[in-house]
Amino acid sequence: MRIRVLDILHQTMADGPGFRTAIYCAGCSHACKGCHNPQSWDFNAGKWMEVDELLEIIKADSMSNVSFSGGDPFYQVPAFTELARRIKQETNKTIWCWTGFTLEQIQANPALSPMLEYLDVLVDGPFILEQRDTSLLFRGSPNQRIIYLHGAPPSDDIPGTVPLEKLR
Ligand code: SF4
Repeated sequence: MRIRVLDILHQTMADGPGFRTAIYCAGCSHACKGCHNPQSWDFNAGKWMEVDELLEIIKADSMSNVSFSGGDPFYQVPAFTELARRIKQETNKTIWCWTGFTLEQIQANPALSPMLEYLDVLVDGPFILEQRDTSLLFRGSPNQRIIYLHGAPPSDDIPGTVPLEKLR
Protein backbone atom coordinates (compact mmCIF):
# COMPACT_ATOMS: atom_id res chain seq x y z
CA MET A 1 0.00 0.00 0.00
CA ARG A 2 1.34 3.45 -0.91
CA ILE A 3 1.08 6.99 0.43
CA ARG A 4 1.66 10.09 -1.69
CA VAL A 5 4.33 11.86 0.41
CA LEU A 6 5.31 15.48 0.02
CA ASP A 7 8.03 15.57 2.66
CA ILE A 8 9.33 13.84 5.78
CA LEU A 9 10.72 15.91 8.64
CA HIS A 10 13.02 14.20 11.11
CA GLN A 11 13.10 15.08 14.81
CA THR A 12 10.88 18.11 14.28
CA MET A 13 9.58 19.82 17.42
CA ALA A 14 6.92 21.84 15.58
CA ASP A 15 4.42 19.04 14.87
CA GLY A 16 3.33 18.03 18.37
CA PRO A 17 5.17 17.58 21.65
CA GLY A 18 8.78 16.40 21.75
CA PHE A 19 10.78 15.02 18.84
CA ARG A 20 8.65 13.64 16.03
CA THR A 21 8.99 12.09 12.59
CA ALA A 22 6.44 14.10 10.59
CA ILE A 23 4.97 12.58 7.42
CA TYR A 24 3.64 15.38 5.23
CA CYS A 25 1.31 13.89 2.63
CA ALA A 26 0.29 15.45 -0.69
CA GLY A 27 -3.27 16.52 -1.41
CA CYS A 28 -5.93 18.62 0.27
CA SER A 29 -9.28 19.90 -0.99
CA HIS A 30 -10.32 22.00 1.99
CA ALA A 31 -8.81 25.14 0.40
CA CYS A 32 -8.67 27.09 3.67
CA LYS A 33 -8.05 30.78 3.03
CA GLY A 34 -4.58 31.65 4.36
CA CYS A 35 -3.43 28.00 4.42
CA HIS A 36 0.18 27.82 5.64
CA ASN A 37 1.04 25.15 3.09
CA PRO A 38 -0.87 25.64 -0.21
CA GLN A 39 1.79 23.74 -2.17
CA SER A 40 0.47 20.66 -0.35
CA TRP A 41 -2.96 20.89 -2.02
CA ASP A 42 -1.78 19.14 -5.21
CA PHE A 43 -2.56 15.41 -5.01
CA ASN A 44 0.18 14.78 -7.60
CA ALA A 45 2.92 16.61 -5.70
CA GLY A 46 5.68 14.63 -4.00
CA LYS A 47 6.16 10.94 -4.63
CA TRP A 48 4.66 7.55 -3.79
CA MET A 49 6.18 5.72 -0.86
CA GLU A 50 5.32 2.25 0.38
CA VAL A 51 3.92 1.87 3.90
CA ASP A 52 6.78 -0.56 4.64
CA GLU A 53 9.34 2.05 3.63
CA LEU A 54 7.73 4.72 5.83
CA LEU A 55 7.55 2.30 8.73
CA GLU A 56 11.28 1.57 8.48
CA ILE A 57 12.07 5.31 8.51
CA ILE A 58 9.84 5.79 11.57
CA LYS A 59 11.30 2.80 13.41
CA ALA A 60 14.89 3.86 12.66
CA ASP A 61 14.47 6.89 14.95
CA SER A 62 14.12 5.58 18.49
CA MET A 63 13.91 9.16 19.88
CA SER A 64 10.86 10.31 17.94
CA ASN A 65 7.12 9.86 18.02
CA VAL A 66 5.08 10.29 14.83
CA SER A 67 2.95 13.00 13.23
CA PHE A 68 0.73 12.80 10.13
CA SER A 69 0.13 16.11 8.39
CA GLY A 70 -0.10 17.53 4.91
CA GLY A 71 -2.09 18.09 2.92
CA ASP A 72 -4.73 16.08 4.71
CA PRO A 73 -4.03 12.43 5.62
CA PHE A 74 -7.79 11.77 5.61
CA TYR A 75 -7.75 11.86 1.78
CA GLN A 76 -5.56 8.72 1.93
CA VAL A 77 -7.33 6.80 4.67
CA PRO A 78 -6.64 3.15 3.70
CA ALA A 79 -2.87 3.53 3.46
CA PHE A 80 -2.54 5.83 6.48
CA THR A 81 -4.73 3.46 8.50
CA GLU A 82 -2.41 0.61 7.58
CA LEU A 83 0.65 2.68 8.54
CA ALA A 84 -0.94 3.79 11.83
CA ARG A 85 -2.05 0.23 12.66
CA ARG A 86 1.46 -1.10 12.16
CA ILE A 87 3.06 1.75 14.15
CA LYS A 88 0.81 0.89 17.09
CA GLN A 89 1.40 -2.83 16.64
CA GLU A 90 5.17 -2.72 16.17
CA THR A 91 6.34 0.31 18.23
CA ASN A 92 5.43 2.24 21.38
CA LYS A 93 5.25 5.54 19.51
CA THR A 94 2.34 7.97 19.74
CA ILE A 95 0.64 9.37 16.63
CA TRP A 96 -0.71 12.91 16.25
CA CYS A 97 -2.70 13.65 13.08
CA TRP A 98 -3.83 16.96 11.57
CA THR A 99 -6.93 17.17 9.36
CA GLY A 100 -9.25 19.78 7.88
CA PHE A 101 -12.26 17.56 8.62
CA THR A 102 -13.95 17.77 12.01
CA LEU A 103 -14.03 14.74 14.27
CA GLU A 104 -17.81 14.59 13.83
CA GLN A 105 -17.47 14.52 10.00
CA ILE A 106 -14.93 11.71 10.27
CA GLN A 107 -17.00 9.68 12.72
CA ALA A 108 -20.06 9.98 10.46
CA ASN A 109 -18.23 8.72 7.36
CA PRO A 110 -17.25 5.04 7.23
CA ALA A 111 -14.73 5.84 4.51
CA LEU A 112 -12.86 8.15 6.91
CA SER A 113 -13.41 6.75 10.39
CA PRO A 114 -11.24 3.56 10.37
CA MET A 115 -8.06 5.54 11.01
CA LEU A 116 -9.32 6.97 14.31
CA GLU A 117 -8.79 3.68 16.13
CA TYR A 118 -5.02 3.93 15.74
CA LEU A 119 -4.41 7.65 16.33
CA ASP A 120 -3.64 9.07 19.77
CA VAL A 121 -4.43 12.70 19.01
CA LEU A 122 -6.49 14.38 16.28
CA VAL A 123 -6.07 18.10 15.59
CA ASP A 124 -9.25 18.75 13.64
CA GLY A 125 -11.11 21.28 11.53
CA PRO A 126 -10.24 23.81 8.85
CA PHE A 127 -7.99 26.82 9.46
CA ILE A 128 -10.12 29.98 9.67
CA LEU A 129 -8.03 32.98 8.70
CA GLU A 130 -10.36 35.50 10.36
CA GLN A 131 -9.82 33.70 13.68
CA ARG A 132 -6.06 33.26 13.36
CA ASP A 133 -4.35 33.18 16.76
CA THR A 134 -0.57 32.77 16.73
CA SER A 135 -0.51 32.08 20.48
CA LEU A 136 -2.22 28.70 20.01
CA LEU A 137 -0.10 25.59 20.29
CA PHE A 138 0.02 23.27 17.24
CA ARG A 139 -2.97 24.89 15.47
CA GLY A 140 -3.80 28.14 13.73
CA SER A 141 -7.35 29.05 14.78
CA PRO A 142 -9.38 28.26 17.91
CA ASN A 143 -12.05 26.20 16.10
CA GLN A 144 -9.33 23.57 15.63
CA ARG A 145 -9.28 21.19 18.57
CA ILE A 146 -6.55 19.00 20.06
CA ILE A 147 -8.58 15.86 20.75
CA TYR A 148 -7.26 12.95 22.82
CA LEU A 149 -9.06 10.14 21.05
CA HIS A 150 -8.65 7.60 23.81
CA GLY A 151 -9.33 9.73 26.88
CA ALA A 152 -6.27 11.06 28.67
CA PRO A 153 -3.41 12.77 26.85
CA PRO A 154 -0.95 10.15 25.63
CA SER A 155 2.53 10.00 27.11
CA ASP A 156 4.72 11.42 24.38
CA ASP A 157 7.84 10.33 26.24
CA ILE A 158 9.59 7.29 24.83
CA PRO A 159 10.95 4.82 27.41
CA GLY A 160 14.73 4.80 27.45
CA THR A 161 15.12 8.35 26.17
CA VAL A 162 15.56 11.64 28.00
CA PRO A 163 12.19 12.77 29.47
CA LEU A 164 10.67 15.53 27.41
CA GLU A 165 10.59 18.05 30.26
CA LYS A 166 14.39 17.85 30.43
CA LEU A 167 14.64 18.64 26.73
CA ARG A 168 12.49 21.74 26.86
S1 SF4 B 1 -6.81 21.60 5.83
FE1 SF4 B 1 -4.73 22.31 6.28
S2 SF4 B 1 -3.54 21.87 4.40
FE2 SF4 B 1 -5.73 21.77 3.87
S3 SF4 B 1 -6.21 23.83 3.11
FE3 SF4 B 1 -6.75 23.78 5.31
S4 SF4 B 1 -4.91 24.54 6.37
FE4 SF4 B 1 -4.29 23.98 4.27
